[in-house]
Amino acid sequence: MKKTVRDLTDAELRGKRALVRTDFNVPMDDGRITDDTRIRAALPTLQFLLEKGARPVVLSHLGRPKGKPNEKYSLQPVAKRLAELMGIKVGFVETTDTDEATKASHDLPAGEILLLENTRFLGGEETNDPRLARALAELGDFFVNDAFGAAHRAHASTAGVNAHLRPAVAGLLMEKELAYLGNALSNPQRPFVAVLGGSKISGKIDVIESLLPKVDALLIGGAMACTFYRALGLETGKSLVEEDRVDMAADILDKAGTRLILPHDAMVAPGLDSAASARSVGRDGIGTHEAMLDIGPGTSESYARAIASARTVLWNGPMGVFETPPFDRGTRAIALAMADATTKGATTIVGGGDSAAAVAHEGLSDSMSHVSTGGGASLEFLEGKPLPGVEALDEKAES
Ligand code: ADP
Ligand code: MG
Repeated sequence: MKKTVRDLTDAELRGKRALVRTDFNVPMDDGRITDDTRIRAALPTLQFLLEKGARPVVLSHLGRPKGKPNEKYSLQPVAKRLAELMGIKVGFVETTDTDEATKASHDLPAGEILLLENTRFLGGEETNDPRLARALAELGDFFVNDAFGAAHRAHASTAGVNAHLRPAVAGLLMEKELAYLGNALSNPQRPFVAVLGGSKISGKIDVIESLLPKVDALLIGGAMACTFYRALGLETGKSLVEEDRVDMAADILDKAGTRLILPHDAMVAPGLDSAASARSVGRDGIGTHEAMLDIGPGTSESYARAIASARTVLWNGPMGVFETPPFDRGTRAIALAMADATTKGATTIVGGGDSAAAVAHEGLSDSMSHVSTGGGASLEFLEGKPLPGVEALDEKAES
């Protein structure tokens, strides 16, 4: 178990500069934040630190400015939004000169927050340059990593800085992410049902392999179902099939036995622009000029039943092209079934950027036990890979 901010003593917190790595990589449109979920998700940790008298100095990346300043990716709008949400002053340090930033960190008054400019404006961030890591370590008296969404990257501000700054602990969001995803993998309440969808089987093979031995059922949707169909020798028409993964899909089917469940019907159409001619067919009824764009109504029902009987449900990847109605129905059915299961006491977890967006679109984010803020990070965690940003944190003393 990793140490968290809650394991620090008052003496370790009071008056001390807390260097906090957050994931403020929010979607922006012309300098305007279009979704502040990630900022809100970091508030509990910042609030906790302020209550304990620590002085938060906050680091984050935004977008891909590739190691040099670029106004388009400035965190300035985030500083403004953070100040609104917290109701306190948030100082913003524009400079990429770490000495100047360090001076500002020492001058930070209690009860305020300091946000530094985008870490990816710094040349050594993504290469995890040890000199940059050492310079960043000067910005605080201890380190808090709350950036679960960036934990799969070994960057200077996520995994390098810790080598020079102790204690190095998890923030409350990081703790929550690790608890939900970690428990699902290592100690799930059963039955444990996983739902996997999305566009490509290639991106999810490792998750399938990692989850199969752990789940009671693995329900497949999305375009990846079509690659499995092909492996079964079914007609897939114009569906998105990864030809070079068909053999792999066949291997997985062999190994998985009855635990891996494919959709038994499909919503098909000649294309996304011909939604009016969408129809549901059995999985052996896909026409040569049609593409499977969603799971079918029968599958939605049987997946909802499986979810209703589960104690733990983990979902990653939409069931269809949920961006284009009517191919959002399967995805909605899963979201509703999970929301229902949550009220009946099941633990429900959503991982993956598009899945989280789909759940938010349905207004059901608060109806899940946990919606992960990390797309890529949650996938790598579910694959069983160690996350560099987590590995580098202090271990909790055995009690
Ligand atoms: P997540 O971000 O939740 O991990 P993915 O990125 O793997 O999910 O997949 C999301 C994408 O998969 C969506 O853009 C959706 O349109 C697409 N998709 C789902 N089902 C299909 C399908 N049958 N055919 C084509 N694309 C699909
Ligand atoms: Mg995605």
